[in-house]
Amino acid sequence: MDVHEYQAKAIFRRFGIPVHEGELARSPAEAAEAARRMGGTVVVKAQVHAGGRGKAGGIRLAKTPEEARGAAASILGLQIKGRTVKKLLITPASDIDHEYYAGIVLDRGAGRPLVMVSREGGIDIELVAKDRPDALKKLHFDPARGLRGYEAMWLAASIEDDSEGKKAIAGILAKLARTFVACDLSLAEINPLIREKDGGYLALDAKVTVDDSGLFRHPELAELRDLEEEDPDEDRARSQGLSFIRLEGTIGCVVNGAGLAMATMDLVKHFGGEPANFLDVGGSSNPEKVVTALDIITKDPSVRVILFNIFGGITRCDDIARGLVKALEMKPVERPIVVRLTGTNEEAAREILAGVSGVQSEGGMEEAVRRAVALAGAGGRVSA
Ligand code: GDP
Ligand code: MN
Repeated sequence: MDVHEYQAKAIFRRFGIPVHEGELARSPAEAAEAARRMGGTVVVKAQVHAGGRGKAGGIRLAKTPEEARGAAASILGLQIKGRTVKKLLITPASDIDHEYYAGIVLDRGAGRPLVMVSREGGIDIELVAKDRPDALKKLHFDPARGLRGYEAMWLAASIEDDSEGKKAIAGILAKLARTFVACDLSLAEINPLIREKDGGYLALDAKVTVDDSGLFRHPELAELRDLEEEDPDEDRARSQGLSFIRLEGTIGCVVNGAGLAMATMDLVKHFGGEPANFLDVGGSSNPEKVVTALDIITKDPSVRVILFNIFGGITRCDDIARGLVKALEMKPVERPIVVRLTGTNEEAAREILAGVSGVQSEGGMEEAVRRAVALAGAGGRVSA
């Protein structure tokens, strides 16, 4: 789960990482008011779940409240990487002496968090990693014991020469590591971490991704979810207990169990098709879930075929079949539906589906996938 910069900064503040105070504004008038309260030059910052806001015109300095009003008017409504700006963060402006990079990601390969720092911050860190890999210092740490002081110091010393500066950066890295572990994050990033002209260090930007599987341990973080920023279908699926991820192909998949869902996607690709989604309807089936699943999938205009692949264990095939029939009664589906149901109550399911128009049954997984791919036709991938 991604959060906004202002929310990430609130988390950082709680762990003692220095960040500017800030105020949220939803209109030019609110931005001008916030700027007036702060006094001096402020920065008006688009709050969207997307990086590269600066380049897209989503970050502007304003010397007066009137300028802040103008900046807000030009940023609100802006489209940044497909997202509309509806909120702004107003913070005091910094006099920047240097911009560094500091970030922690979960390195799944190593099974550990990876700290990365660079003297070259403020720019896209992927570019630094690609073009000048030696400009990026990396260190894994053990989440059970945390980032040790000497490790933080080693990292800091690789990007800063001044001894007070090294200490300040090491302190920030240690706190960032504590935040990362304590909040179950998969990403904690400060880009840029700055040295101000007066010598202070602070996080000018903040990016945090919370591991969805850790959210149940952090109800206060779960509340930060901004539904306006998320795919409404993915959100609707989640609230119904479905695990749904939109993809770019033409074959809509309804599967039970994450493993079978992945195997189904593999097989679709193997036979030359492209899945339009990952969808796990879960273990304990109820017909309502199938209704929701079908509704979400058929809303996607690029879906040409719908493929059901159900292995009935706890999930009962007749429940799935009933859900399918109910969904079709509520809203007919113009596209072909290929169904492979096997396991618990499969005979009952077959009876329910016999003669339902548009539904083609297959006994085996391979046959079902082949048929779906054939029905979808050539050129599975719809868009990049
Ligand atoms: P991003 O583009 O989405 O990563 O947004 P950032 O918050 O990182 O801001 C982008 C860039 O704007 C920074 O790298 C800075 O160069 C500049 N910037 C942001 N805040 C300030 C500020 O307070 N003062 C100055 N002088 N520049 C700023
Ligand atoms: Mn940034």
